[in-house]
This record gives sequence, structure tokens and C-alpha cells, in this order.
Amino acid sequence: MISQGEHDLLADVPDGLHIGGRWRPAAAGASLAVHDPATGEVLKEVADASVDDGLAALDAADAAFPGWAATPARDRAEILRRAFDLLTQRKEQFALLMTLEMGKPLTEARGEVAYGGEFLRWFGEEAARVQGRYGANPEGTGRMIVTQHPVGPCYLITPWNFPLAMATRKIAPALAAGCTVVIKPAALTPLTTLYLAQLLADAGVPDGVVNVVTTRASGPVSEAILRDPRLRKLSFTGSTPVGQQLLAQAAGGVLRTSMELGGNAPFVVFDDADLDKAVDGAVAAKFRNIGQACTAANRFIVQRSLADEFTRRVTRRVESFRVGRGTEDGVVIGPLIDDRAVAKADELVQDAVRRGATLHTGGAAIDGPGSFYRATILSGVRAGSEILREEIFGPVLAVVPFDDEDEAVRLANDTEYGLVSYVYTENLARGQRMIERLATGMMGLNIGVVSNAAAPFGGWKMSGLGREGGAEGIHEYLQTKYTLTPDP
Ligand code: NAD
Repeated sequence: MISQGEHDLLADVPDGLHIGGRWRPAAAGASLAVHDPATGEVLKEVADASVDDGLAALDAADAAFPGWAATPARDRAEILRRAFDLLTQRKEQFALLMTLEMGKPLTEARGEVAYGGEFLRWFGEEAARVQGRYGANPEGTGRMIVTQHPVGPCYLITPWNFPLAMATRKIAPALAAGCTVVIKPAALTPLTTLYLAQLLADAGVPDGVVNVVTTRASGPVSEAILRDPRLRKLSFTGSTPVGQQLLAQAAGGVLRTSMELGGNAPFVVFDDADLDKAVDGAVAAKFRNIGQACTAANRFIVQRSLADEFTRRVTRRVESFRVGRGTEDGVVIGPLIDDRAVAKADELVQDAVRRGATLHTGGAAIDGPGSFYRATILSGVRAGSEILREEIFGPVLAVVPFDDEDEAVRLANDTEYGLVSYVYTENLARGQRMIERLATGMMGLNIGVVSNAAAPFGGWKMSGLGREGGAEGIHEYLQTKYTLTPDP
């Protein structure tokens, strides 16, 4: 049941498209319903944009671009800083909104507000640090001037699993660099982005700099925007197959692209690990966001002598987890995003069991209402099981034993993905060897969560292109110009 306080918050969230600083319905009057995955109830209806609405948003981003690009970096930075302050003030509202539309426990939603807010603060600080170079060329026949410029209007596509952080991780560096944006959140969780657009306007972001298009027609709307020559950049976070399709479309306009795609993170525990720390890290890396994170540990590769003890301990922890709507006190396992996600997690578990894995706890959906799956532990997962190849995106922890370091490296790298890896060892030299041997964009060495606004987030191989966050993040939205002049 939606409480009075939740009802009041939902009433404060805009339900229109945000285009050129105005809120308006979809041109065709269509709307889409947003559901609470814990109960199936409709939370709110918001505008469902058509291709024409998408192009109107691009018109607005294009019209606002020269003015925003010419705004001094310090002024852009101050707006981002005000947005950070406002988000801090509205922390509880944003956290509750994410719990309502996405399902994560409220404590985790508060964590996401803190994490997501840091991108506004970090890139506000970075805006004033964009620099060029000036110097004599090696022949001494001229002066070289190298300058940085915003790439232009950007199209940002975000997934449902981190509704706030995936939006600020793109909007903040784009605005810091002087770019304008059209953002398209996932149709399952558009409310947080709409609420954020209102906050950014309150912070002083000028009309047309941030435009929001909510739609069920992601494919056609995106294709039309990507085909328009005024667009100069695509930044996408989502699944690898959709990312591949969008890269092909972006090729037409030779667009700059950033791709934050799927993962299949190994979590390697050596026999010289601190087991208490490894179990804590495993629980964080696996069950945060109910397992629905690109950084979620997918394969627990545990040295054989420790595998039984590790499995016993994580099973004990998991059996104490409270399941329920994320607004309830003490809930660790909220709902999955929808029934399809429940069915997929269950298929992967049943496939692993059929191929010989042992089920220690869980292994079944929970009867409705809502889309719940029991926290599940599997051990002795056999090679060839689908669960080792596919992103689980659910609360399922799968243990695979190994015998020596070479085998651990081989198993860990045996995936088309390369987003993040976790390694637990108290042996410094072994830790250093693993840094060098794992094919991964990020690594947690004796730690189960790596995300930080100041760090370059991104993957190798099929996990993506480019980096978000860190000193690198703003350069995804800048292009370089080199000018030669004669000696003075
Ligand atoms: P998804 O690929 O289905 O959708 C992502 C976004 O793309 C949504 O906004 C969706 O509406 C849109 N979309 C879908 N089809 C489209 C199309 N044909 N054209 C244009 N847009 C389209 O992914 P999801 O289920 O929302 O998110 C989960 C995936 O995101 C997982 O694979 C996860 O690993 C990945 N992810 C990656 C990161 C990262 O930083 N690497 C972070 C979070 C999530």
C-alpha cells in the first residue's frame, strides 16, 4: 500500500517531458505507468514520448548549446555545486523515490544518493581544471596551441538499476564540460530522473541545457536522435547487446561514444585470505542492489581448501536476510525489477543444479505480489553452466572451486566481459600479480565495492568503452583543437 507520505512525494514529481525548460505532456498525449516492483501497484503515470518529442528535445539541447558552452567554467561549476547542496537537502525524498520505483532497500537508496551526488560535486570541481597547452614546436618554426572544447549536444541513455547515480554520472561531466544533453531514463524507473531535472532547474541550470524524454519507444526515439547530425555524442549505460546495436547506429554520425555495458565479475578467494573480510566483501559485492549491479560479483572462485567453509559462512549470513519492500526496516532483499528478472534468475539456478551444482539455500521465487526471488547459494558449479557465462542480475551466489593461482587466473578471465574483478589474499606479491594478470577495467583487492566519483569507472572487452568519473570522466565530453601560429 502506498502511504500518505509516499503519495505526497509522488505528487511532487513532475509527470511531463522536460524540454527547453518547460514541462509538457507528450505531443500525442500518451503516458506510461510506473510500478512498485514490491507490490505491483501503479505509482504514477508519466509522459510517453514519441519520435517527434525526442527530436524536440534535441532542438532544445542544440539551441542551448552555444550559450552554455560560452558560460565561464566557474559559473557552470557553481550551478553543479548548488545542485549537490540541493540533493543533500532532498536526500530522503530521492532515496524514497528510488526505493519505490526500483525496489532497493532504503538504506541502499540513501547510499546511492550520496554516491550519485558526488558526481555533481566532483565534476563541478573538475570544470575549472580543464586546461590547454602552449609551446614551441620541436623545429622551432612555430607555436602550438592545444585547446579543449565541449563536443556538443549529447544523448544520454540510462538503465533502471541505479536511477540517480547513472544519471548524475553522465549529466555532471557533460555540463561541467559545457555540453547540453537529452537524457532518456529507463521506462521502468523514470521518476528519479524527472525529479532530478526539477532539482537541476532549481539549482540554476538554464533552459534547454538538460532535457528529459521518458518513453516506452526507446528504439525508434533513440534511432531518430542518433541519426540527427546536430547530435555529437552518445553515452549509454545498459546491456551489451543494446550497446552493440547503438554503437552501430552511432557509426552513421561518427559520434563520440561512451559505453558502460554488462559485467561478469569474478570474486577470487585464495587460501591465504582473511576469511571474515572475504565473507563481508562477498555479501556486499553480491547482494548490494539485490544483485542487480553491473559490478555484482557473478562467479565466486574459491580455493578448494576453503570452499566448504566459505560456502557455509555465506549461507549462514544469507539465511538471516530479511526479505520485503525496501521501505521496511532491516530489509536486505527487496524485489527484483520485474517478473522477467525473477524467471531469468530461476532459469540460471535450475540450469546450474541440473548440471551438478549443490543448492544450499534459496533456489525459488517467492509468491506474489511483487517480483521476489530468494537469496540463493550454489556450490560446486560445473563448467558449462549458463550462470558462469551470463550476468545473473539477482541474489544468487555461485561458488566454483580452484586448485592453484594459474587456474584461478584462467577461470577469472574466462569471460567476454571485463568490468570489475575482486580478489582476496593477504599475500602482497600475489595481490600484485593478480593486478597484472586479470583482464579487467577495475579491481577490488580485499574490498567488495569499488565505485567512487573520483575513480575512472569502466570496463575492458565487451564491458564497454570510455570511463565515467575521475579525472578521465570529463574528457569523454571534450574534444581537442590544435592550432599552429608562426613565431611571434
Ligand atoms: P538495457 O540495455 O535493457 O536498457 C538500458 C537502457 O537502454 C534503458 O534506458 C532502455 O530503455 C534503453 N534501451 C533498450 N533498448 C534500446 C534500444 N533499442 N535503443 C535505445 N535504447 C534502448 O539494460 P537494463 O536492463 O536497463 O540495465 C541492466 C544492464 O545495464 C546490465 O547489463 C548491467 O550490467 C548494465 N549496467 C552497466 C553499468 C556500467 O556502468 N557498466 C551500470 C549499470 C548497469
